[in-house]
Amino acid sequence: MEDKKGKHSENCENRKIFIYRIVVAIILIVSIILVYILNNLGNSKEVGAMANNISNEIIGFNSIENSIVNNTITTHVTSEESLRKLNDWKLVLVNNDNKMAEDYVPPLANIDSARQFDARAINSLTQMILDMKAAGIKNIWAQSTYRSPDKQKELIEESIQEYLEDGKTEEEARTLTLRGIEEPYSSEHNLGLAVDFNNVDYAFEETKAFPWLVKNAEKYGFVLRYPKDKENITKIKYEPWHWRYVGTEYAKEMNSLGLCLEEYIEYLKNN
Ligand SMILES: [Zn+2]
Repeated sequence: MEDKKGKHSENCENRKIFIYRIVVAIILIVSIILVYILNNLGNSKEVGAMANNISNEIIGFNSIENSIVNNTITTHVTSEESLRKLNDWKLVLVNNDNKMAEDYVPPLANIDSARQFDARAINSLTQMILDMKAAGIKNIWAQSTYRSPDKQKELIEESIQEYLEDGKTEEEARTLTLRGIEEPYSSEHNLGLAVDFNNVDYAFEETKAFPWLVKNAEKYGFVLRYPKDKENITKIKYEPWHWRYVGTEYAKEMNSLGLCLEEYIEYLKNN
């Protein structure tokens, strides 16, 4: 009996150890599977962010090299909230380094018989002008809004011709022209999201309209696109008359951060 009991408790101990080992093995296997799944999730997020960034490049945000630098060398992952903003049509960046797609035609609506604006933003523009007038600023009008890339080419040719008639060389005429007019597909006017007010000159700064716009344009989604203190970043001389539609959310954020569009896009890529 004694012996039998001893054997019995020994068997029990062995069984306990066996079950214990099984449990440890199961925990180990489950842990390994979990680590594997989590790792893969992380990778797919990064790949997703990279794919999103590359799609941004296609619609003209930046060069692909920059995107690769941002994603591999600095290993920075842009947040989903920022990616949403970067993919928004309201923030499309067009300048001499970021040409718009040549086949892009914005949805257009008529301001009057001669002028058009992006149909998605035209109400903001017309309401802003109406409210300016209601505030006692009678002397305000949208002089230049949407321009087709062909019209942009025409303007460049006309300006070059004028400089040539003034006795400039071909090269001087082109350089002087491109200081004031962007090349086709490089102008926000080709996007249909920019407006030049009144006589498109520096006298606009002295009108009542200018300080009103500085204070209120963000409520309608417009920003002063080429500020005086950002010339080295925008690479465009100060233009008090040129206002760009970006929507109220971004206009307010850009103004509160003190960033021009080029800086704001960089800011979003890094946040
Ligand atoms: Zn303009």
